[in-house]
Amino acid sequence: MGKSGSLRGGKRKIGLFGGTFDPIHLGHLRCAQEVWEAFDLSQVIFILAANPPHKVDRPIISTKDRWEMVKLAIADNPFFALSDVEIRREGKSYSIETISYYHRNIAEGERLFFILGADSFCEIETWRDYRQLFRLCDFIVVSRPNFDPLQAKVLESEGFQKDIHEERYLHPSGHLLYLHRITPIGISSTEIRRAVREGKSIKYLVPKEVEEYIRRQGLYQC
Ligand code: ATP
Ligand code: MG
Repeated sequence: MGKSGSLRGGKRKIGLFGGTFDPIHLGHLRCAQEVWEAFDLSQVIFILAANPPHKVDRPIISTKDRWEMVKLAIADNPFFALSDVEIRREGKSYSIETISYYHRNIAEGERLFFILGADSFCEIETWRDYRQLFRLCDFIVVSRPNFDPLQAKVLESEGFQKDIHEERYLHPSGHLLYLHRITPIGISSTEIRRAVREGKSIKYLVPKEVEEYIRRQGLYQC
């Protein structure tokens, strides 16, 4: 059954996929696509972190350039959207504020899933009010090469109970956390920035339009 057909029964499921996207790459896109398909989501909303609290060790390029690149990358996918909630907010971009915002604004019959990679999940206890996050929505933690989500301290410290049948965990609040295996793609934005700086090709690591945008704007040269 196609997507529209499968939406008829049950809740409308919305994925929230946050990131710095500096720049967006095929690892992000393939992750969103596989989660959309596996969880029968009606939409994946990319949330651009305008001012990420964790990325203080290096300058990130302008929000406008990152925004344009995500726009170009998702333009051909009607099930992907880009949110400006963190851009409209002043100060640092905290996930707790973003998820709370969506939590307050979801329509009757909608269900929220927060999507993040295993690397981010393993450091989630450094996020502001992370304990509260698990009470607001379900989580989908996707696999990422070289990171083991089972190493995340929060699984035990937050009292998650493993489902004996599936790779999913139940939080005391009743929300679910899924460990979801996706096609391993070892691409990172860090490597892309390095490649551009070193004058190497980034072909097939990012969408063609993003590659052209980076070249045109002269991004990541130094
Ligand atoms: P950087 O190297 O600058 O940290 P990144 O490639 O990790 O960039 P982010 O914008 O930090 O990209 O990641 C946004 C989200 O996407 C995070 O939850 C991250 O775990 C996930 N993610 C990024 N790349 C991959 C990948 N190749 N496979 C699975 N998940 C990924
Ligand atoms: Mg990262």
